[in-house]
Amino acid sequence: MLCNSNILENFKNYSDLIVQQAIDGYSVLPHTIQSIVSIRRIIYDILNNKISYPLLSKETLIVLAFDGINFNIANSVWKTCSLFPLTSTFPSISSSAWLSSLTGMQVNEHYIPGVIFKKIENLELMNVYTEHNITYNDNFLSTNIFSDAIALGFEPYVISGFLSNIRCFWKDQLVKNSEVIECKCDWNNIKFCTNKIYECTIRELTQLLLKNKNKKRLLIWCFINTDDYIHKYGYDKAIEICLQQFENAALRLVRKGYNVIGYSDHGMVANYSSKKLIAQLDSLNSEHCENIIGGAGRVRWFYPIRGQENILKQKLLAMFKDEAYILSQADLHKKFILLMNSTISKQIGKIILIAKSHNFPSVDFENKFNHGALSIDEMLIPLAIWS
Ligand SMILES: [Zn+2]
Repeated sequence: MLCNSNILENFKNYSDLIVQQAIDGYSVLPHTIQSIVSIRRIIYDILNNKISYPLLSKETLIVLAFDGINFNIANSVWKTCSLFPLTSTFPSISSSAWLSSLTGMQVNEHYIPGVIFKKIENLELMNVYTEHNITYNDNFLSTNIFSDAIALGFEPYVISGFLSNIRCFWKDQLVKNSEVIECKCDWNNIKFCTNKIYECTIRELTQLLLKNKNKKRLLIWCFINTDDYIHKYGYDKAIEICLQQFENAALRLVRKGYNVIGYSDHGMVANYSSKKLIAQLDSLNSEHCENIIGGAGRVRWFYPIRGQENILKQKLLAMFKDEAYILSQADLHKKFILLMNSTISKQIGKIILIAKSHNFPSVDFENKFNHGALSIDEMLIPLAIWS
């Protein structure tokens, strides 16, 4: 092992991490350190020459940020890197996990728990990918890997890829302090074409590197939307080929003197949702709750009418039996799934439903694969360092 950083030296291997974090045979807890939340610190250490591997340190660092790639698929394809397993956030959802990775904040510090939850200021439900008006205090989320990069003498860039399609408060926070390169490709049209995803990403990256005639030191965070494809087709041959293409590109870049690392936000598992189960869940919700169901994918927040908590919990238990965890906020806290504070407890519902099998009524039922819950394949993600 050529890495020379305390943080990486103490990381456990895949099997030991799973054993240590196990809730039961199906699910794992987010680790406090060996987690996506440490990505900011790891990138800081690389830029600051605290993690050394036999390369040109203090030079441009390229970070490949793959959406939806779990540890196992990365481990089976990427053979030329140092590969570390990390846990995702809970919920294992992009909005929570990417923001944690770039800010170094836990979900109960950045207050973006998934996709649909309550706004802090007025407790109205919102969708994080469309909401523009969220009020946070000024210091909040003001620093991230990009401000770290500036402080260390690097110019920070984001190649935004599919994120070019998204305009919202969350994205503004995510890319804050960086110069954003909006992608010229039609990402919506190519989201199911892995070859094009690869080609467009590398084209944007190459153009940015070529433009850097003065050989400034850059930090480039490069977003790669493999999420939509995997939701539909899973980890198939095309995804393996795509990951192999990216590894080959990473090695070419390393030979040119760039530092290249890769990581992802969450993994996915096969998920079967029936329209009948979704309808049943919606009718339970409208009978006992004051809002639509929050959360996303394989984790859902319920906002029961005062006094209806127990009856809702009993009905959910009868409906799901062993197929899901039905928890209170106190359970999440006690079990170290998500530590509560006065803000996060207002945002997520009083009853929490987390998938514990492949049969789960996620709203986007046309997706054959999904995420959000605590299963090993949703929670374990790769950190790859090519050298
Ligand atoms: Zn997704």
